Amino acid sequence: MSEMRSGFGCESCGSPAVRLPAALTDDAMIQCDRCGCTLMAWGAFKRRVEAQETADLRRPAERRASGTPHDARSA
Ligand SMILES: [Zn+2]
Repeated sequence: MSEMRSGFGCESCGSPAVRLPAALTDDAMIQCDRCGCTLMAWGAFKRRVEAQETADLRRPAERRASGTPHDARSA
C-alpha cells in the first residue's frame, strides 16, 4: 500500500506514510504509520489524494505555458 503516499504529510511528524484501516469505508479512520496519530477518515483522505493527483497533472502544463526563462539569457 506504499503507493498511497502522494503529496501527503502527517501534521504531527511530517511522515508521508499512512496506516490504512482494515476496512476501507469512507468513515474508517487512517493513522500515521510513523507516530500512530489518527489523521482523517478514509473518505476524506481519498478526496485529498485525488485532488493532489489533479494538481500534479496540471503542474507540468502550467510550467510549459510559462515559457523557458533560460532562453532569455542567451539573447
Ligand atoms: Zn505522524
